[in-house]
Amino acid sequence: MELKEIYKIMREILSEDEIKLNEPMREHTSFRIGGPADVMVLPRNSEQVKNIVKLCKKHEIPFFVMGNGTNLLVRDEGIRGVVIKLAQNFNDALVHNNIMKCKAGMPLSMAAKIALDNSLSGLEFAHGIPGTIGGAAVMNAGAYDGEMADVVRKVKVLDLDGNVFELAKSQLEYGYRSCNLQKGDKILLEVELELKPGNYDDIKRKMEDFSQRRKDKQPLNLPSAGSAFKRPPGNYAGALIEQAGLKGYRIGGAMVSDKHAGFIVNAGNATFEDVMNLILHVQKQVKEKFNVELESEIKIFGD
Ligand SMILES: Cc1cc2nc3c(=O)[nH]c(=O)nc-3n(C[C@H](O)[C@H](O)[C@H](O)COP(=O)(O)OP(=O)(O)OC[C@H]3O[C@@H](n4cnc5c(N)ncnc54)[C@H](O)[C@@H]3O)c2cc1C
Repeated sequence: MELKEIYKIMREILSEDEIKLNEPMREHTSFRIGGPADVMVLPRNSEQVKNIVKLCKKHEIPFFVMGNGTNLLVRDEGIRGVVIKLAQNFNDALVHNNIMKCKAGMPLSMAAKIALDNSLSGLEFAHGIPGTIGGAAVMNAGAYDGEMADVVRKVKVLDLDGNVFELAKSQLEYGYRSCNLQKGDKILLEVELELKPGNYDDIKRKMEDFSQRRKDKQPLNLPSAGSAFKRPPGNYAGALIEQAGLKGYRIGGAMVSDKHAGFIVNAGNATFEDVMNLILHVQKQVKEKFNVELESEIKIFGD
């Protein structure tokens, strides 16, 4: 379908500033890689999301959902169809006692700050993980001593037939960096967290400690999507990659970070192919040297 056609269809339900045409995905991903999305929409409420999906289905337009793009690698050819970005426009939180409800687009760091301001403990681990709370709940993001599965109570989702309903944590089949929302057949609209009353100073100290550890160990000065690989059972991806002599190894603009070998960074104008080839090279070397299969944690979008 012609780009102008899709735009016209989306304008039925969205205002001009909620739709972007030919939007460079490198500006929406922490890797700073990716060609243009035909159309990007920035809905403000669940009703709009529902209508976007309905129109895409009716007109057979492919669509993709993203948060802040901090775990994404987008192809250089970009994305044909509609990217539904649930981030800055879809961002709200409500705290009642120890329960915190967040719209999917709320930055995880902001959710952690709200928990701190309410002396609620449980989200300290999340302080410093970029991305939205929706993306984090889908990825089961985690660090240090916690992961989203520890604090998610239930979620509100939209299925592709337009039904909005709640799912309890037990229905999400959480595992290490996984849950069944990764199948892509539902859009996460809202996350409800159950936190524990805590001590403001203790929570703050823990957050600051985690932040410092990140600054000390991670290459935060270069674009990346965080750890490129899942932790293999009983081992650490970064340690294996380092022992394989790959720290600083480069293909085109993509490089195994020389600060933390678990990160692949965009050291300058990296392309999709550069990153993919580097991931494959690292996997092959680690398999050959240690007989360990490294699984990539990064999600791939695009044609
Ligand atoms: C410097 C850096 C450090 C990082 N540190 C960590 C870390 O310590 N621990 C960790 O686990 N991760 C880490 N990450 C990875 C990343 O931040 C997390 O995976 C984060 O939770 C992704 O959120 P996002 O909003 O950016 O999701 P995106 O990257 O936009 O999307 C990720 C996946 O979730 C899906 N998705 C997103 N939102 C929705 C929604 N509302 N409904 C349905 N599907 C959705 C997308 O389709 C995609 O498949 C790091 C990344 C960087 C760049």
